[in-house]
Amino acid sequence: MSDQKERKGSPHVIVVGGGHAGVEAAFAIARMGGLCTLITLDAAALGRMSCNPSIGGLAKGQLVREVDALGGLMGIVADRTALQFKLLNASKGPAVQSPRSQNDNVAYNDAVVSWISACPGLTVLEDEVTGLALDDAKVVGVHTKKNGWVASEAVILTTGTFMGAKMFTGSEEEEGGRKGEGASMSLAHDLKQFGFRLGRLKTGTPPRLRAATIDFSVMEVQEGDQAPTYFSFKAQDTIDQQIACHITKTNPKTHAIIEANLSSSPMHQGRIQGKGPRYCPSIEDKIYRFASRESHQIFVEPESLQTDLVYPNGVSTSLPAEVQAEFLRTIPGFEKAEIVRMGYAVEYDYVDPTELDQRLMTKKVKGLFHAGQVNGTTGYEEAAAQGIMAGINAQLFVRGEAPFILRRDEAYIGVLIDDLVTRGVQEPYRMFTSLAEHRLVLRHDNADLRLSAHGWRLNLIDEERWTRAQLRRSLLEEGTALMKSRRAGGIPLSQLLKRPQQRLADYQDEIPEIFSGSWDDECRRSLEIETLYEGYIARQLSFIEKLKKSEGMKIPPDFDYDKVPSLRGEAKEKFRAVSPGTIGQASRISGISQPDLSLLLIALKRST
Ligand code: FAD
Repeated sequence: MSDQKERKGSPHVIVVGGGHAGVEAAFAIARMGGLCTLITLDAAALGRMSCNPSIGGLAKGQLVREVDALGGLMGIVADRTALQFKLLNASKGPAVQSPRSQNDNVAYNDAVVSWISACPGLTVLEDEVTGLALDDAKVVGVHTKKNGWVASEAVILTTGTFMGAKMFTGSEEEEGGRKGEGASMSLAHDLKQFGFRLGRLKTGTPPRLRAATIDFSVMEVQEGDQAPTYFSFKAQDTIDQQIACHITKTNPKTHAIIEANLSSSPMHQGRIQGKGPRYCPSIEDKIYRFASRESHQIFVEPESLQTDLVYPNGVSTSLPAEVQAEFLRTIPGFEKAEIVRMGYAVEYDYVDPTELDQRLMTKKVKGLFHAGQVNGTTGYEEAAAQGIMAGINAQLFVRGEAPFILRRDEAYIGVLIDDLVTRGVQEPYRMFTSLAEHRLVLRHDNADLRLSAHGWRLNLIDEERWTRAQLRRSLLEEGTALMKSRRAGGIPLSQLLKRPQQRLADYQDEIPEIFSGSWDDECRRSLEIETLYEGYIARQLSFIEKLKKSEGMKIPPDFDYDKVPSLRGEAKEKFRAVSPGTIGQASRISGISQPDLSLLLIALKRST
């Protein structure tokens, strides 16, 4: 990689914000040999976890591994600061399995600060960006509070929950995107003046409790996996000891207190207008919406080895402080818990993501990119995934090179960005495996095989990583061939493995090569999946090819979906509601499956 001197004179990119989107964007630009200034409200808060002390989870784990395969920071930092690892859905099919880690949030924040400050080409400036500098319809820099105008050829906005942000606890209201930090109040005004469509969304966080005042003995213990699934494809650090989490529950007493105080919730009073994340509702929302439920689970997660704070995952709230204290005392183990920081909600501005093209560049202002929660998403992983893509594309833009776009069949990142820019958001968007129609080929275990070549071509990953990815590919090819050629009892191993309860480990004698040399558990797991699901994967790949060829095939506006034999009623309704103009558009309708599209394709071909 070029050093600071060689970069002098390179086009300059500004990243506004040092959250998960901002740091990935800046890191990618610097790795590609560019010059970048990251301007943020608090330089000590780079990569800070605003809420839950964990990384990954369903579909999010896939995003982290994809970011990692493109040379991003999140996977490396998550591995190094993990307190516990768990592979979610381990007993289900490989398409829906996802790695997740509990993290030390202080160590995570510190690690991001040290990676970013040690990165050549990257400067961090602590300041507030108050506006954008435009020349015609092209961005030429930003206006800041302390440093005046800072010039650049491209700008990436990653303001997260800070733009126009207000925090709420009961009747208390204050400006700010996160407790103890400021807000960005004037930038939104500028964006509106340039004609961008803005909206309001909300999110919330639970109170933080002092570990020493919690009785863990009455709670269920949740240990990590014995064999951790790390995120990074880089040579791995290993975790020495995992920390246990605990589970407790709310009960009718808790619910009665919350119910009696619903009218003091800022959400129920209508003081918060923005929609919150549907799959991460506040405890008051859960009690209101699911009135018949007698209890809700709470995952009791350590925040850090350095702070003695505990994160009660499941009781996000903005109820008044005294109500929070009262309902917490009814929960087993929390009877004497000391509240160190009250829960709160935050409402903030986001910019309609349909204002963006597939590069995440705005259509109205050339050189201006948006990434992360400002695009209406929720979650660290979704932010990081957009951040790395905006960073790469901003660098390609200032160099005058072709954009880097990932297709929906190549990566979850492709699904995420395509969903955002083509459909927009009506509520905070989070990634799910169900949103990825090609999820069997977009697994966490093969993210390096899918994306490392891009990472290498774009100068995002180093030679060691590229060599590792190539080695893994050749091992898998060799393994697949061995599975077909070696037999047990006269039957090829590739067929035997498809029988119920069969594992690769049962055939160590027939394929000793796979249990020695460069083979590791991760590689063996990929081989097992590829062998077991060979038929499904082949069908999905051939369908992807077919779809690519038919992407532009026109669907007549008056096409009668009732005449498509065997098409599901729900699919017919969706097609009629959206009236897609092409097969490509039809394939992107949420909830439309591969068989639905195949039937539509056949019917269209017959009708022409
Ligand atoms: P952020 O991490 O918010 O970072 C934004 C950055 O922009 C900050 O560094 C800030 O200093 C900087 N900035 C903003 N404006 C300016 C400006 N004008 N000038 C300079 N710098 C600026 N996610 C979940 O998935 N589940 C949850 O339950 C959840 N709960 C949350 C609760 C709270 C209270 C908060 C605050 C967030 C919560 N989140 C939750 C969201 C999660 O924090 C975000 O998804 C994630 O951090 C988004 O990353 P980001 O990089 O887009 O923005």
